[in-house]
Amino acid sequence: MKKVLVAGGGGFIGGWLVKELLTKGYKVSAVDIKPVSEWHQISPEATNSSRDLSLLDNCTESTLGVDEVYNLAADMGGMGFIENNKAACMLTVLINTHLLMASKVNKISKYFFASSACVYNADKQNKTLVQPLKEEDSYPAMPEDGYGWEKLFSERMCRHLYEDYGLETRVARYHNIYGPNGTWEGGREKAPAALCRKVAESKLSGAKSINVWGDGEQTRSFTYIKDCIEGTLKLMDSDIREPLNIGSSEMISINELTRIIEQIARVKLDRIHDLSAPKGVRGRNSDNTKILQLLNWQPRVSLKEGLKETYQWIEQEVADVIKASWADCASCCEIFLVTTS
Ligand code: NAD
Repeated sequence: MKKVLVAGGGGFIGGWLVKELLTKGYKVSAVDIKPVSEWHQISPEATNSSRDLSLLDNCTESTLGVDEVYNLAADMGGMGFIENNKAACMLTVLINTHLLMASKVNKISKYFFASSACVYNADKQNKTLVQPLKEEDSYPAMPEDGYGWEKLFSERMCRHLYEDYGLETRVARYHNIYGPNGTWEGGREKAPAALCRKVAESKLSGAKSINVWGDGEQTRSFTYIKDCIEGTLKLMDSDIREPLNIGSSEMISINELTRIIEQIARVKLDRIHDLSAPKGVRGRNSDNTKILQLLNWQPRVSLKEGLKETYQWIEQEVADVIKASWADCASCCEIFLVTTS
């Protein structure tokens, strides 16, 4: 039985990957810096541990006796996080560096690195009706400051570990992955989850408006988690050593994304555009020519389908939070009534 390490197994994508690898019969070890109780999903059939993988010793221990490594560990979040935490994003370089060094020493057969569409040159993303990004558009380099530079550097490190030491590496450039069991509050959430939360909060509280970052005309493509996991496993199984886009090519504006979420929630809300909020690049989409050619695959879940699953999950999470706060309030009032009567 193949033994795999999922670094960042307590995160959004890591949690789904652990589940899928288990169903495929792998022996899975999931490691994350967060305490296991705080993981997005916990698969009891995996070995789950809390460890800081920016430290070499922890990487060496975690890769011992492992056949394959999936590195999804990163200190990251949506635009609101990465624009304001550039140093933290860049320090993630320690995780990939030490995991690669440990994988070399422990003779891992294959190593996967989760890179990002944030590696692409900003000049190619400065209008809403943007040309989809091809893999070669990452050079000349002008990636997203902080987060994107770390990803681009780590991609190169993967390449050189193969060239110099023969370590087989696979690199995916993920484009905005979304779905249930991800971060939907707290400041690290990305646009689809943030908008689902805002719409659900307004719907459940009876509020009439939501706040949208920027003028909403900025464009993106969003990739459903099931496609992300399928593409990741296909890439890992292949002999493709160059970075490949794993991203939907269904481009949409943030205003249109909001409209679809409203439709799913069956509400119509006024939009207050916050022009001072972080917005990222003006337009971004994935060109899937290369992945189609090399793996005969591209994402297939439509945005409407994926958003329906995501919204339903987030609305339930929001409803649970509201219910819990009412329960707190009720028990507090009860104590007050007992002590004052
Ligand atoms: P996530 O934040 O949910 O998961 C990352 C996990 O890494 C977190 O659980 C975090 O606790 C863990 N981690 C951070 N520092 C660590 C450390 N020192 N040691 C061990 N674990 C540590 O993010 P995600 O959305 O699941 O993303 C997974 C990977 O995919 C990341 O590398 C991310 O940059 C990349 N990516 C994600 C997206 C996306 O849209 N979600 C897009 C492009 C790239």
